Amino acid sequence: MRRRIPFDECYPIGDEYRRFDERNTAFSIKRQKYGADTFSYTKKVWDKMRAGAPGFSHPDISFKNAANTSDNNDGMGTGYYSWEPLGVSVKPDDVPLWEKTPKEHAKVVKKAAQYFGAVDVGFTKMDERWIYSHTSDGRPIVFEEVEQGYITEEKVVIPESHEYVIAMTIPMEFNENSYAPTTIEVTSNMGYARMHVTAGTVAEFIRGLGWNAIPCGNDTALSVPIAIQAGLGHTGRNGRLITWDNGPLVRICKIFTDMPLPQSPPAPSGIIEFCEACEKCAKLCPSQSIPFGPRTYDPVNESNNPGALKWYCDEQSCFDYWHEVATGCSICFRGCSFTKKKGLSHDIVKWFVRNVPVLNPFFAWTDDLFGYGEMSDPRKYWDTPFKRS
Ligand code: SF4
Ligand code: SF4
Repeated sequence: MRRRIPFDECYPIGDEYRRFDERNTAFSIKRQKYGADTFSYTKKVWDKMRAGAPGFSHPDISFKNAANTSDNNDGMGTGYYSWEPLGVSVKPDDVPLWEKTPKEHAKVVKKAAQYFGAVDVGFTKMDERWIYSHTSDGRPIVFEEVEQGYITEEKVVIPESHEYVIAMTIPMEFNENSYAPTTIEVTSNMGYARMHVTAGTVAEFIRGLGWNAIPCGNDTALSVPIAIQAGLGHTGRNGRLITWDNGPLVRICKIFTDMPLPQSPPAPSGIIEFCEACEKCAKLCPSQSIPFGPRTYDPVNESNNPGALKWYCDEQSCFDYWHEVATGCSICFRGCSFTKKKGLSHDIVKWFVRNVPVLNPFFAWTDDLFGYGEMSDPRKYWDTPFKRS
């Protein structure tokens, strides 16, 4: 059996690494560039509908938009991502803090989180390297000796006591993702909506036990290194978290808390080695945003944070392609060799990928040969009954 490689070996960090400034994400940069038109592509879909483009029918577009209903576009500290208790799960003052061993805490949090919508849950220690240095509007994120985190006009404060992190993956459906890049690819929107509800609900569960909790979506910190550190997967060539059970078809949310939790073991190794042999997403990416070749420490542009050994995607050209196609793209999710329907044959292949990496080039080749990852016909989506995938 192959060993589980420690985090520092599978995600090495150089001395030049600095906390990332959220103002440099592709979304923030494009927002500065395009202003009110940053998300104008969401309006262009109606032109595609009028032109009769497959995957952009009236129901298709409404499907995609409606999936956003529970999303929280305002992000940090708002809606269910509130840093303040919501007052839904409250213990009486005379009931003491529910304080057990870290393992016991992890057991109940994991089960509750899975019930509330997480597909997998991992635990790790707070690592300040992943916390953004500044928010997207320029407020510094700092650590202070306070009991509860808070957000003001000037700064964002995480308590020193929040030493523990819960990372959760939220499911995206294989079937609907296979229609990318059209508006039937609702799984991205639905994933964001679900993670908002799940993270907020789990945070409220923890508060009800007497502890503090800060639920986050994509805000506040880099989700991918946190998820790797919490043992949920590894970074793929496409720059996304790849998990053994669901490939890249997950969204990530996280909670910072003062409830003591154990460190989860790293995910089994083998994903990075497979990506070294497989360049399928780099070949498929219509904007050439995904690199070929080995991992590096060097960024493509200011939307990458240099100093980590990984594949750096050009998030800005990716975002530009979204404008071109008038919807989120997700081709690198659909086409990934780890994106598969559940089944014994794929489990057997994954066993070989984990344990006999010398066969990786063969499996990467057969993935193309069998036509995996091809786009489904959007004109037929509504003709078959729904089946959860
Ligand atoms: S979402 Fe599309 S454009 Fe962006 S990296 Fe993936 S394949 Fe390329
Ligand atoms: S398509 Fe291949 S190279 Fe790209 S992330 Fe998936 S497994 Fe890795």
